Amino acid sequence: MSEEKINLLGLDRVALEKLFAKIGEQKYRATQFMKGLYHHYESDFDNYTNFSKSLRNKIQLFSTLEVPHVVSEKISKDGTIKWLMQMNEGNAIETVYIPEKNRGTLCISSQVGCSLNCTFCATGAQGFNRHLTTAEIIGQVWIAAKRLGQSTKNRKLTNVVLMGMGEPLANYSRVLPALRIMLDDFGFGLASRRVTVSTSGMVPYIYKLNEDVEVSLAVSLHAATDELRSEIMPINKKYNIETLLKACKDFVKDKRKAKITFEYTLIRGVNDKPEHARALVKRLKNIPCKINLIPFNPFPGNSFKRSLPEAIELFQNICEKSRIVTTVRKVRGDDIDAACGQLAGEFHDRTRRSNQIQLKVS
Ligand code: SAH
Ligand code: SF4
Repeated sequence: MSEEKINLLGLDRVALEKLFAKIGEQKYRATQFMKGLYHHYESDFDNYTNFSKSLRNKIQLFSTLEVPHVVSEKISKDGTIKWLMQMNEGNAIETVYIPEKNRGTLCISSQVGCSLNCTFCATGAQGFNRHLTTAEIIGQVWIAAKRLGQSTKNRKLTNVVLMGMGEPLANYSRVLPALRIMLDDFGFGLASRRVTVSTSGMVPYIYKLNEDVEVSLAVSLHAATDELRSEIMPINKKYNIETLLKACKDFVKDKRKAKITFEYTLIRGVNDKPEHARALVKRLKNIPCKINLIPFNPFPGNSFKRSLPEAIELFQNICEKSRIVTTVRKVRGDDIDAACGQLAGEFHDRTRRSNQIQLKVS
């Protein structure tokens, strides 16, 4: 039965090498296979003719090669593309591609929904549904790269950020092999600084990530006092700002030029006043970092409002005066509900979702 077979998409190089070793094959088979899959986008195992027919048959006894399929594609007037993908029977996965002048960023999801319940986030508002598998995580990059015609000569997809639906560090064991495939030259060959994991602050996993793989880190801070942060981000009650910032400092320690990106969603009247900006820069003193201000993106059922342009400008000025590079994220793709925090997950099978929730509860 296909569910019991291992999907070869989603196995990093070491896992593939082990798999080939188990059936008495040489290590190089792993990279040969990866080239076919990640450089030539070959998803039909029968077309891997550099593997003999008998070897292909042997592998297919215990494995499959399944890639997600695209359920829908929406293109924004600003060029942003939102794909809804699906793997087998699972809920749809949302992925957003943001083209810019000198780069193309793919924003991928790591979970369907999220359990962390930040009060300003549409993903949080719909609750946790399930973790994505490694195949579903790397499958988003695979589909986007294939559709964009990515090759070593034509790099439309230059950056990947784990800033779509879900908290990547809450799904660590499945995210890690996907990161390794993104970085591997036989995978997508992306540079470490171009792969960014965004976290709401799951401190123990920040340390683990630092030990396991070299990627960039973005931390969703959104407030500089524990009182306010705990109010809008419940995870702060578990890992407070001091603990989180210590982990951030340790993350960049001994890494030349590395900086943490602090994301700060500006919500009108909540965290966007000059005193909030001053408190923020004070706390970030001595941490190599930059700040990315994200004007709040509204979504149905939520009463927060986006900060006024004057408040955003003033906030940015205060940060920059203290010599922290501070950018304001442009709103992209909001006409197709692809902007930050708007990924609400269009469930294609709501019955299944409620069934799963009931199962979890019982
Ligand atoms: N769970 C991870 C990554 C996904 S959220 C995290 O929290 O970092 C990606 C970014 O979008 C985070 O910085 C998050 O705070 C921000 N975000 C969430 N909802 C938003 C909204 N409605 N408007 C603007 N940014 C939002
Ligand atoms: Fe989850 Fe991130 Fe949304 Fe918070 S901001 S609810 S951690 S996806």
